[in-house]
Amino acid sequence: MTDRSALTKKILLGMFSGLLLGSLAHSIALDDSNPIMQFGINGLIDLGGQIFIVTLKLLVVPLVFVSLACGASNLSGGTSLGRIGIKTLVLYLFTTAAAISLALIAANIINPGLGMSLASDTVFVAKESPPIKQVFLEIFPSNPVKAMAEGNMLQVIVFAILVGVAISKSGEHGSRLRDSLDDWNEVIMKLVLMLMSVAPIGVFCLMTTVFANMGFGGIFDLAKYFFNVVLVLVLHFSLTYFLLLRFLAGLNPLRFYKDFYPVMVYAFSTSSSSATLPITLETLEKKMGVRKEVASFTAPLGATINMDGTAIMQGVATVFIAQAYSVEIGLAGYMTVILTATMASIGTAGVPGVGLITLALVLQQVGLPVEGIALIIGVDRLLDMLRTSVNVGGDATVASIVAKSEGKLDY
Ligand code: ASP
Repeated sequence: MTDRSALTKKILLGMFSGLLLGSLAHSIALDDSNPIMQFGINGLIDLGGQIFIVTLKLLVVPLVFVSLACGASNLSGGTSLGRIGIKTLVLYLFTTAAAISLALIAANIINPGLGMSLASDTVFVAKESPPIKQVFLEIFPSNPVKAMAEGNMLQVIVFAILVGVAISKSGEHGSRLRDSLDDWNEVIMKLVLMLMSVAPIGVFCLMTTVFANMGFGGIFDLAKYFFNVVLVLVLHFSLTYFLLLRFLAGLNPLRFYKDFYPVMVYAFSTSSSSATLPITLETLEKKMGVRKEVASFTAPLGATINMDGTAIMQGVATVFIAQAYSVEIGLAGYMTVILTATMASIGTAGVPGVGLITLALVLQQVGLPVEGIALIIGVDRLLDMLRTSVNVGGDATVASIVAKSEGKLDY
């Protein structure tokens, strides 16, 4: 057995034992004041999980900056960067729009919200969503240090690409800087590997805490909605990506899934595309044969702007809330949902729970009550884990297609 597959097995073991232990603690009704819960699960184990997540996140800003600047500078000359950039963006938008369309169709067949009682004691207070002009303006950084300090990934991306392009145009000076960025890239990847070796423990801690506090209870109250989202996530993953991988990337999708699933386990346990990015990159480059210059451009971009799983949740949730409040959306309304959810996916940061916040934006656009979000909060933690796995699956699919089309895929 290779080191890598041994590690994957350990991560899976960590995931399942955490799931079991957490569910067990939840089912024997350990409440917050119980010492096992207070000092054990919500104390020590939670601390382990939080440290793991924080360390993964620590890598995100340096990794995105260094890898994108390297990627942009290596895609020498403006044309190939422009071409790859456009292909990547178009594919990301296309897969997200396909995901949400699938979600809307399935939700209209399953009707998850029909006969829902509106009684909900959870209150959701929506944040005022900023005007669209402001949203676009905020993509551009006025202060790159501030953008990095605040973890504003869209701004970090813009800055990194600009620096990368400037490096490629700066002759000898640029090539010296590129070499040192390459060195940094290696060092950061080494850090990723170091962190991966403790991942089984980190994943175990995360799963135990989540399931001890949440259990599976909420699923039964919202079973139709929950399984509707799960069904579309599975369909999109096993159908849309299957076809894209087969016909656009010329790959054997089953082999692709087999090689990629450890990344999905990470995404599932952390509920964060950004925190998973180091592993996504490593796997794309070392296992899937996507050449570094393409992987280091497409993956960080995808972790920030491409959220197919999130869009699926938002599509089903919109139909669910419309039905629960007996509001007709109509064809024009559905078009608006497709458009806004695709845009919202760009603005959804790759961290836990943000999809629910940007859902407010979609609901507002079609005139649905934002308070409806309170109806689905109960199962969102679990759905977040599942949809994040699909989010990273989408990033890898697009990265492979782009690499293939550029002759930079050595699977
Ligand atoms: N947790 C998701 C991600 O990181 C975003 C979301 O849907 O909330 O990809």
